[in-house]
Amino acid sequence: MEPAASLWEFLKEPKIAYFSMEIGVQNGMHTYSGGLGVLAGDTIRSAADLKIPLLAVTLLCKKGYFEQKLDAEGSQTEAPAPWQPERFMKPLPERVHVELEGRQVAIRCWLYIQQSVTGGKVPILFLDTDMPENSAEDRDITSFLYGGDDKYRLKQEAVLGIGGVRMLRKLGFEIKKYHMNEGHASLLTIELLIEYRRDIEAVWDEDLIWDVERVKDLCVFTTHTPVEAGHDKFSYELIKQVLGEMIPFRVLKKLGGQEKLNMTHLALNLTEYVNGVAKKHKEVSMRMFPGYEFSSITNGVHSFTWTCDSMKKVFDKYMPGWANEPELFVRVGRVPEEELWEAHMAAKKLLIDYVNGRTGIGMDYETLTIGFARRATAYKRGDLLFRDIERLARVASGKVQIIYAGKAHPRDIPGKLVIKHVFECIKKLAGRVKIVYLPNYDMDLALKMVSGVDLWMNTPQRPREASGTSGMKAAHNGVMNFSVLDGWWIEGHIEGYTGWAIGPAPSEEMDTPPAARDEQDAEDLYMKLEEIIIPMFYGNRRTWIKMMQNAIGKNAYYFNTNRMMLRYVTEAYIK
Ligand SMILES: *Cc1c(COP(=O)(O)O)cnc(C)c1O
Repeated sequence: MEPAASLWEFLKEPKIAYFSMEIGVQNGMHTYSGGLGVLAGDTIRSAADLKIPLLAVTLLCKKGYFEQKLDAEGSQTEAPAPWQPERFMKPLPERVHVELEGRQVAIRCWLYIQQSVTGGKVPILFLDTDMPENSAEDRDITSFLYGGDDKYRLKQEAVLGIGGVRMLRKLGFEIKKYHMNEGHASLLTIELLIEYRRDIEAVWDEDLIWDVERVKDLCVFTTHTPVEAGHDKFSYELIKQVLGEMIPFRVLKKLGGQEKLNMTHLALNLTEYVNGVAKKHKEVSMRMFPGYEFSSITNGVHSFTWTCDSMKKVFDKYMPGWANEPELFVRVGRVPEEELWEAHMAAKKLLIDYVNGRTGIGMDYETLTIGFARRATAYKRGDLLFRDIERLARVASGKVQIIYAGKAHPRDIPGKLVIKHVFECIKKLAGRVKIVYLPNYDMDLALKMVSGVDLWMNTPQRPREASGTSGMKAAHNGVMNFSVLDGWWIEGHIEGYTGWAIGPAPSEEMDTPPAARDEQDAEDLYMKLEEIIIPMFYGNRRTWIKMMQNAIGKNAYYFNTNRMMLRYVTEAYIK
């Protein structure tokens, strides 16, 4: 493949430029950490399927996120997770520069092409500072995803936002919209303000040279974080030290906050179209940022990527065309119950064999198997299930086996403690309930788990789960959700039909203290397991399989990125 030639075909029409700090392209490319990156990857895969004129910009992260090591107590340590970009793509010869700490940092990019079976293609540019002309420190800027301190993060965001826009310009792209996937890319707005600076003598108000309206017209912003502390903020001292005064601080403070530069505020003030990633998340965002208009486009997952092989075969037979047109899931009732169950059992066998092979725990194919895997962080309450260990033992002994996985961010101490607590509880339940915690959760393991368990559980503290996507992956494999009513599940849940809720309705006030809420949620969890879920699984398999069909026909039918991207096109990109 001649990179320059293949780039040429993408320059013919104007593009939507999708900026994301992380993108989960494929498992061998360690350029993602979790949900946000996998969503970005699914977005790109669907854009390619639908032939949406989109390109993506991200960082190379040659040393990856990290490899998770867990000792016998569940203490997590991290090792670098390098990968070989040259196995997947080629670097382009073009260079751009961004001034950081007074040094001209050179940036190049690698071109990856996401191809769809439909013939659609989406180019992804991976920005890279690892070049001999840069100092050792600068060569490392694009090494680690979410590594380092504030200064390191700011430099990464400058390379992504500012360097990214310069690279697109250098390569000759015409950009219709800039889509910021989370606030990490917000600095691109500054570069655009400079690009579109008005050449006028605005004597009465010198700030009029900054064409905020023009930049707003060009930008789309998707926020993913329903908690204030989760938004990137940088002190103006740090900004001055690293970036200097690209635009007057007086102007920058008006756009990004007086005290600190808040990347979300910056994006909000320079974007016409802003959205949350589920209906509830939109409401929460409006409360968090009063005075701004939010839309909502509920997330999805890429159907083909997140359906296991045995289910794909069944879907191909009864709903051909489903991968590019997930609306066809509406006809899932055509799939005979036995065939659906066989396809599920094939996936379950693969998972159980994998678990037994790695751990020797001796799980079996017949026992109701529950899965819980996602980033290990306090609000997701990975240990809620263990709130009353003796109760769990009574409910689950001989009837339920459980599979866990998930990494904690290296600096997330409470997240690491959740993993240790789960390990402790696993030990306490040894001999009574079979539970494992698998290391190194990634996209491959995710597909194995969401398709191979019987029930997918999620227990976030409301309203902190902006959307959540792993439950949608489960639904694509006929695996029902058993989850707290937050994020997407508020929209996908029909009690006893698509799955089950844990805890109160989403409208219910949350003025009870957190401990009482944990208590209430755990109580509901045990009660439903004992009285509804376990009896149905063992005693009423036909109803169970009907619910599996509903998960596909109602949840996968809607919560996919093909539907999501059509919404972005009609609401955000074409205006
Ligand atoms: C889908 C996915 C996630 C997101 O899981 P949530 O339950 O939505 O938080 C995280 N990590 C990996 C590897 C995934 O594939």
